[in-house]
Amino acid sequence: MISSVHLTSSGGSAHSPSASVHRLESASFSLKSRLIPARTHPLSASLLQTQKSPSSISGRILQEQLHAAKASGVLLDWNTGKVLAVEGRPHASTPGSAIKPFLLTYALKHGIVDANTRVYCRRTLHVAGRSLPCSHPNDQPLLDAEDALAASCNTWFASLAQRMTAQDLQAALQQTGLPYSTTHFDEPDDRILTVLGLENVSTTPIQMAIAYRALFLHEAHTSVVWNGLRDSVAYGMANHARIKGAGVLGKTGTASNPGEWWTHGWFAGGIPNRFVLVIYVPRGDGGIAATLASHVFQHLLPEDAP
Ligand SMILES: [Zn+2]
Repeated sequence: MISSVHLTSSGGSAHSPSASVHRLESASFSLKSRLIPARTHPLSASLLQTQKSPSSISGRILQEQLHAAKASGVLLDWNTGKVLAVEGRPHASTPGSAIKPFLLTYALKHGIVDANTRVYCRRTLHVAGRSLPCSHPNDQPLLDAEDALAASCNTWFASLAQRMTAQDLQAALQQTGLPYSTTHFDEPDDRILTVLGLENVSTTPIQMAIAYRALFLHEAHTSVVWNGLRDSVAYGMANHARIKGAGVLGKTGTASNPGEWWTHGWFAGGIPNRFVLVIYVPRGDGGIAATLASHVFQHLLPEDAP
């Protein structure tokens, strides 16, 4: 286990948190935060139900907490999968490190790695001319699978990518249910960039939320992935999503879309037996998304209490 730390940003970013925040503050936004019209959304039946529901308190919480950052969010009921609230546009983007739990799950189940697979992280990683440094602390550079997920270690996951064949990667992505391109997995560098969530996968917040809910429901509560997602919020890269008295699980992601010089940020996670929450910040990083998630959770819990 890595030691307890307080982190300010998510893994997978080639940009410093302060630079991202600066861009966030200085950028000129045209995106209007708004509720998605039910008729344009694939889950229109559920959304219609949500809009009619008197419990649109959760929708108001999402709107109030995400509006200033022009962020999008999706809130699902953990147990039933019902869409409780949606805010913002269903914009598809690269998932960044938020995809890592899915690939780790597949790799563990198929014997590609195990819980004790350890990789020494030098914190620098260069792939296809891109610098993808780790931003986790370097006090314990030998990471196992659970540590690697909590710390979002790019080096560990690049090593995982090198152990996967193109067929492995396709099968793993297919199981996520997230949209992906099948054209670029023959090159090792493409496999690494895909495993790091930087290329070949593009997802909307609702797709991410559905995929995370399925992942949570299929994981034993003592599994490496479950523990890694718990550690990620408790003291790892998603630490900003932590709130008192609730065992939040989650993962952040920071990435750019093709042709864009700025990064966007993700938080994907939930509170067991209550909510699955995905936050997408169009200009920012995973740290900002995790902070917004903590605000949403804090406002939701009083309503949720018996
Ligand atoms: Zn690392």
